[in-house]
Amino acid sequence: MFEKVLIANRGEIALRILRACRELGVSVVAVHSSADTELKHVRLADESVCIGPPLADQSYLNIPSIIAAAEVTGADAIHPGYGFLAENADFAERAEQSGFTFIGPPASAIQTMGDKVQAIKAMKAAGVPTVPGSDGVLGDNMEDIMRLAERIGPPVLVKAAGGGGGRGMRVARAADELPRIIPLTRGEAQAAFGDPRLYMEKFLTRPRHVEFQVLADAHGSAIHLGERDCSMQRRHQKVIEEAPAPSIGEEARERIGALCVQACLDMGYRGAGTFEFLYQDGEFYFIEMNTRLQVEHPVTELITGIDIVQEQLRVAAGEPLGIRQEDIKFSGHAIECRINAEHPETFAPSPGTVGLWHSPGGPGVRVDSHLYTGYTVPPYYDSLVGKVIAWGSSRSAAIARMGLALNEMVTEGLVTNVPLHQAILATEGFAAGGADIHFLEKWLESNNESQAAQGPFNPVL
Ligand code: ADP
Repeated sequence: MFEKVLIANRGEIALRILRACRELGVSVVAVHSSADTELKHVRLADESVCIGPPLADQSYLNIPSIIAAAEVTGADAIHPGYGFLAENADFAERAEQSGFTFIGPPASAIQTMGDKVQAIKAMKAAGVPTVPGSDGVLGDNMEDIMRLAERIGPPVLVKAAGGGGGRGMRVARAADELPRIIPLTRGEAQAAFGDPRLYMEKFLTRPRHVEFQVLADAHGSAIHLGERDCSMQRRHQKVIEEAPAPSIGEEARERIGALCVQACLDMGYRGAGTFEFLYQDGEFYFIEMNTRLQVEHPVTELITGIDIVQEQLRVAAGEPLGIRQEDIKFSGHAIECRINAEHPETFAPSPGTVGLWHSPGGPGVRVDSHLYTGYTVPPYYDSLVGKVIAWGSSRSAAIARMGLALNEMVTEGLVTNVPLHQAILATEGFAAGGADIHFLEKWLESNNESQAAQGPFNPVL
């Protein structure tokens, strides 16, 4: 095992990784921007290094600065968390070249999976089902593109090959919308991702987002930890996640899980990863692979009892996976609500100081959060300030526990989206399970309409 790990991230995930390291007896180096000296994990770390000014470009995305911090502190390995440099193949490579273990897959796997078009090709080759669409990148001939859209059957989704974070995609309801949509999306893709390449997929009208967690070691073993349902989304961003996915069942879990495991073995994958699928009418369609730890990993941990971050550390250190597929037992149901410092109705970020923090608790309740009384949420980063995860022996028991936990939580001085979560939990659509990825936005829209009709003093949320 490593002696010292540098955590190249911030917030709740940095704290989560610090805890995993400590349990394994590994020392921790925290790196932080000048706006983040008060972060909880920075205070708890064995050593900390300021790597630059507040803007992420100059700190959390500053590769030379992070590698220099690893050098001066004598770290053995770097854990990138999620976001920032977690899926940056160049970072993985430079870390390894400088003599540090990158706690993640080989740079080549990050590269392949980071290019969505290449990823889809690799998955097709491994026998994983994909969304009907273009065979690779779209060319320049608009007539060809329109003919392709007709063949796929509109509506179609135009997606940026280098896209991510739910950005860089647009729906065309009919082929004749493409002459307008293609240049628009191409321009955006170039500006946002420095990559103008586009591809096209059939736009599934009512899919669910179901993803599979995998773990692979460097000795030719891989396993899957079942699936999660992340269909509660706003603007393609996940809001609530759960495991297992309602009504997917054992047969599909084993079948698709086995395909994901085989794909990992085929590409020489190592570490934790997630295969994301859309699921509609009983069929799975691969959309992308995330070559890193996910925000929503705790729901899988709660139903399997496996510590995914510790497994990441172990396999990165060269240990073989200690768990076989047949050892994985799924128990009960877990739900995660992402707590954002944002207005529950307008979604405007609302940084501020926590006057009083009270974390919920009790059996089956887990809170992954870096908040504490007196902590000031800086305005420079993602608004995620924590996650409440509730486990129950059944889905309805998990929902009931989540309700209690959200009621108990106090974040005085900070506006959060807790009221939004409470309102979603109370909807029939959520209670029924298996809502599609459009459910939340449709529900928000209908709320806005009824709110407008009722006037401003009768908030629905
Ligand atoms: P990103 O890397 O930006 O997250 P994804 O390809 O994973 O992009 O897609 C993000 C979200 O967009 C999905 O979770 C889903 O809600 C929606 N989406 C993606 N592809 C399709 C599709 N073919 N049909 C309908 N919705 C889609």
